[in-house]
Amino acid sequence: MQLLDGVLVSGHIKEQIKQEAIDWQAAGGKKPHLAAILVGNNPASEAYVGSKVKHCDELGFDSTLLRLPSETTEAALIAEVQRLNEDPAVDGILVQLPLPEHISPDSVINAIDPGKDVDGFHPISQGRMVLGQPTFLPATPYGIMLMLEYYKINTSGMHCVVIGRSNIVGTPMSVLMSRASNPGNATVTLCHSRTRNLKDFTLNADIIIAAIGKPRYVTADMVKPGAIVIDVGINRIEDASRKSGSRLVGDVDFDNVAPLCSYITPVPKGVGLMTICGLMKNTLQAAKQKGI
Ligand code: NDP
Repeated sequence: MQLLDGVLVSGHIKEQIKQEAIDWQAAGGKKPHLAAILVGNNPASEAYVGSKVKHCDELGFDSTLLRLPSETTEAALIAEVQRLNEDPAVDGILVQLPLPEHISPDSVINAIDPGKDVDGFHPISQGRMVLGQPTFLPATPYGIMLMLEYYKINTSGMHCVVIGRSNIVGTPMSVLMSRASNPGNATVTLCHSRTRNLKDFTLNADIIIAAIGKPRYVTADMVKPGAIVIDVGINRIEDASRKSGSRLVGDVDFDNVAPLCSYITPVPKGVGLMTICGLMKNTLQAAKQKGI
């Protein structure tokens, strides 16, 4: 079994991004600038958005974090998005999800200028992705493709089972893995909560990509020996042995599944770090699209 090491791969990719941004600025280009909006104070969202801002610093990008109270109306949030759309200093905009219940994420995402949609969630970005046109790819699936590419894993002809069909992870992941590209060229099955006998599909999978949101849901009896397992899940579970009283686990029962696999991502230090790489690559691309 080989660990797909998010620390190692993201380290390499971040160095490349940093150098590309330096070269771009040396040629007269603009310093990339990411603007993030956080509504409310969900602790997980605080941590994710904080990490994105920290990575901007590390890569020499500018960043702005706009904090809005949880009672912000949908109209007020959309007005902020439109203000950032019009701000020439800002290259990329992200609105941290989930949003409070009274705000429709679709309405807010639709308000983002597709040229600044560095999360790749806008319908235009997703439509272009489906058609194989240049666009901002959704950050998590993009990061997973970068990881498969780094390890030179040839996925052509493999059976890939994606579990989860969200617009931000599972569905775009299934599209990217089925594209005529490498990584890609896989035969993809997209499973979800209505899938009957999930195990029948996973046991036939050469690659399993789990994006479910259920701690350690994929167990050893569901995995074919030699399979590649990509664990997207980030779930906090109680752990009395930790000072904090909790720890993060993925959607895969890592301890029992890992010995069966050819490759597997850990949680943490796996896909999460690759997501940041996808976002930062998109932000640099957004700055470069403006030209010199
Ligand atoms: P969603 O809740 O939006 O989607 C979960 C998907 O899993 C749904 O399609 C759902 O099916 C499916 N599902 C739920 N239960 C089952 C089941 N028993 N069997 C099969 N499918 C099931 O989650 P996200 O896609 O946003 O996130 C998934 C996980 O990935 C979460 O743990 C999240 O925290 C994590 N995540 C990690 C990121 C990273 O950078 N590492 C980035 C984004 C998310 P249905 O559609 O039928 O409801």
